[in-house]
Amino acid sequence: NRQILLARRPLGAVRLEDFQLVTGDTPAPAEGQVLVRHRWLSLDPYMRGRMDDVPSYALPQPLGEVMLGATVAEVVESRHPRWASGDTVLGMGGWQEWSVVAGDAPGLRQVDATRVPASTYLGALGMPGVTAWWGLTRLVAAQPGQAVTVSAASGAVGSVVGVLAKARGLRVVGIAGGPEKCGYVTGELGFDACIDHRAHPDARSLAAALAQGCPGGIAGHFENVGGRVLDAVLSCIQPHGRIALCGMIAGYDGRPVPLAQPQLILSKRLRVEGFVISEHPEAWSEALPELHALVARGKLRPRETVAHGIEAAPEAFLGLLQGRNFGKQLVQLD
Ligand code: NDP
Repeated sequence: NRQILLARRPLGAVRLEDFQLVTGDTPAPAEGQVLVRHRWLSLDPYMRGRMDDVPSYALPQPLGEVMLGATVAEVVESRHPRWASGDTVLGMGGWQEWSVVAGDAPGLRQVDATRVPASTYLGALGMPGVTAWWGLTRLVAAQPGQAVTVSAASGAVGSVVGVLAKARGLRVVGIAGGPEKCGYVTGELGFDACIDHRAHPDARSLAAALAQGCPGGIAGHFENVGGRVLDAVLSCIQPHGRIALCGMIAGYDGRPVPLAQPQLILSKRLRVEGFVISEHPEAWSEALPELHALVARGKLRPRETVAHGIEAAPEAFLGLLQGRNFGKQLVQLD
């Protein structure tokens, strides 16, 4: 059972040396437990925050332990009546190839991998999709005909925000890094426009491009990045605009992400609300039927970047924090 441990806490940007690959025995399930073999591991930006030992909404990742993470796995041996070998389960197996888990663990859910690829349950039909649904419908809460903007628009969360926004009759303009990602955002996902943030090195020019993409004004924004992107949005969003503050990935690796003009929140009477999806477990049952329907109708065609083998997880994680991923970042463990 090959595992990736947190070897040390990063100083600024994460480095490969912050992780350690070790090989342990394949665990054996006790009564009431199941042994699962991980097929897919999800890599998510929140993992960077847990690598630091600072007060946050989630406890820090303990040093010397297997990195935490969501997995889709196959039950290989069950000593719990709820599960049979061959079942496909979504759980928090971590950065390793096998795990044993209590059969009644609250986070362990059966998934149907016969109609959609199993990996989708870690992206559009999993935590990122539900995050997109909650932030857009509950916090941005724009009305049909209004325009909204979304940063990291080609990513796991941002892509779903855009598709949900179109399904609600909104105009939606994405922000993404590079022409290829922008082409996917407008072509495959159906956003009305997408602004390449790399082509706009300062907030003023990015704001002008966003305003041009939303000639009737920007009513709401779904923020995944922070820094220059948020500065641009604050300067061009309309008064009483609503911002769902989902993530600030530009600052996760220790770079400061100050706001250039925080007074705009006051002068425009904006509503800026941060949220953490783990505090809204009720969102899943509301969001999933709509997300499943969009996937079934081919409206939501999530893109994935797949690394192979558990040993590839640290490098892929560094790539996620540097924008090298294109869509949901996964590790395939077969
Ligand atoms: P993505 O699939 O969107 O991947 C991250 C993307 O962020 C990169 O591809 C890149 O896109 C962009 N990015 C990375 N670094 C930077 C940087 N320094 N400056 C600007 N852009 C950068 O990840 P997710 O969809 O999984 O997550 C998106 C956001 O949502 C994250 O901030 C995450 O923390 C947050 N989140 C919050 C949750 C909550 O409960 N609040 C739950 C889940 C996610 P590009 O090349 O286009 O710039």
